[in-house]
Amino acid sequence: MIKKVLIANRGEIAVRIIRSCRELGIRTVAIYSDADRASMHVRHATEAYHIGPSPSHESYLNADKIIEIAKLSGADAIHPGYGFLSENANFARKCNEAGIIFIGPSAEAITLMGDKITARQTMIQAGVPVVPGSEHSVAGEENVNEIVQAIGLPVIIKASAGGGGKGMRLVREASELIPSLRLAQSEALSAFGNSTVYVEKYIDSPHHIEFQILADRFGNTVHLFERECSVQRRHQKVVEETPSPFLTPELRQRMGEAAVAAAKVVAYEGAGTVEFLVDANHNFYFLEMNTRLQVEHPITEYTTGIDIVKEQISIASGMPLSFGQNNLTQFGHSIECRISAEDPFNNFMPSPGVIRHVSQPNGLGIRIDSYVYEGYEVPMYYDPMISKVIVWGRTRDEAIERMRRALFEYKIDGIKTSTAFLERIMRNKSFKNGIYDTHFIDMHGDELFQRHTDESAVCADMAIIAAYMDYTSKIEKIAMGDYSLQRNGDNRWKEYGLKKAVQRI
Ligand code: ADP
Repeated sequence: MIKKVLIANRGEIAVRIIRSCRELGIRTVAIYSDADRASMHVRHATEAYHIGPSPSHESYLNADKIIEIAKLSGADAIHPGYGFLSENANFARKCNEAGIIFIGPSAEAITLMGDKITARQTMIQAGVPVVPGSEHSVAGEENVNEIVQAIGLPVIIKASAGGGGKGMRLVREASELIPSLRLAQSEALSAFGNSTVYVEKYIDSPHHIEFQILADRFGNTVHLFERECSVQRRHQKVVEETPSPFLTPELRQRMGEAAVAAAKVVAYEGAGTVEFLVDANHNFYFLEMNTRLQVEHPITEYTTGIDIVKEQISIASGMPLSFGQNNLTQFGHSIECRISAEDPFNNFMPSPGVIRHVSQPNGLGIRIDSYVYEGYEVPMYYDPMISKVIVWGRTRDEAIERMRRALFEYKIDGIKTSTAFLERIMRNKSFKNGIYDTHFIDMHGDELFQRHTDESAVCADMAIIAAYMDYTSKIEKIAMGDYSLQRNGDNRWKEYGLKKAVQRI
């Protein structure tokens, strides 16, 4: 049995893993960089060890140091979270060699799925449909021309070692093909240290729909249904929901079976995610498999009642799954919004800094996976995501309204965040009707990024003037549209929203 787990990660995911460990009576070891001395995960863990300077390659990516601390602290397992070393086969191997359980799949499965070309070939052999494209890496300019002639434009050139939406090039015109190939190769080399690329047919108006997998070492493999992840910006997820408003029960079943087949063919063990693209005609294609816990796993937990981190630990301890596919059902609807320390109205400019005030939403069906607190300084070194708001509702409509309320209640002062932008997504008509694909944000950019309409600016001006005029009266708060004004304890009006309108008065 696992008694002590080192979490080779930081931020919200480290806190989230520690929570499950505590419920299981498992002690936890946190590691932290210079910038993370005062981080929440350090406070939650049973023990904490300094790992190194702030840049990740000197801290959270230092595999040897992490294993050394695991040994020193007597941890019998390491949970890698997501990002950092979570999909690094060498790290998994090194853990095992040091006699420490790596909470994740085997190094072989990570290697197989980490290389997208090998993963595609493996899926073709297993009879799982893949996006039409090259079976091998692109050998050169002549070769890329042949491939494109066979599948037709548009195509997408992708890095075989790619991830995080990086190293992808869309090609619509034949004249762009060779320059795009060269660019994709050099991008792949600088981002992943490997210039190998391949070509896929570009699917128009696709949905990104993924299936959560759990598999034990006794050959039991189940899926925990889908997650609709089509609200994306630059190929990265922004909002996720389950069930997908696009899937029919019949398609859900077929895709679930394909996802289980995909995991079985690589003898997958642990939690993993099989990602698919689904076109407008309900054809689905294997995209890739992520061999780790995903950022968006909580929506699956809300709708199945299963704690995925606890299952990961149980599987890594050698236990069989305690349920089969027939024991699993989806109940209600869940949505996740990723809150980042960025300014969505200024091209998502990073906004690190000190959080002066934070007030979190609460109430029925709301879960906040976060790691920030009042006075905390969001460091500039890591991913800008600071929090995830996850809601559950009996119906999709209820979940959307609940998310709007949660985003309204979430007040973070001192840094810029994406909450207002996410709130606009929740209000968007197409989103509310469940009719959207991966182009949603680009298609609705005018509405989502528009600073403020004249009308709403006038309303805000009026609200502010009214508030100032009533300074001595009993009015405590005025809220209109995106703006609100509130009287503080010291009798000053504090404005949320349109600062410019205040300056204009
Ligand atoms: P990464 O591993 O970098 O996240 P993926 O292969 O998972 O890359 O793709 C990320 C996103 O890019 C998808 O969710 C989708 O929006 C878009 N995409 C990838 N491949 C295609 C394709 N063949 N056609 C259309 N869109 C694609």
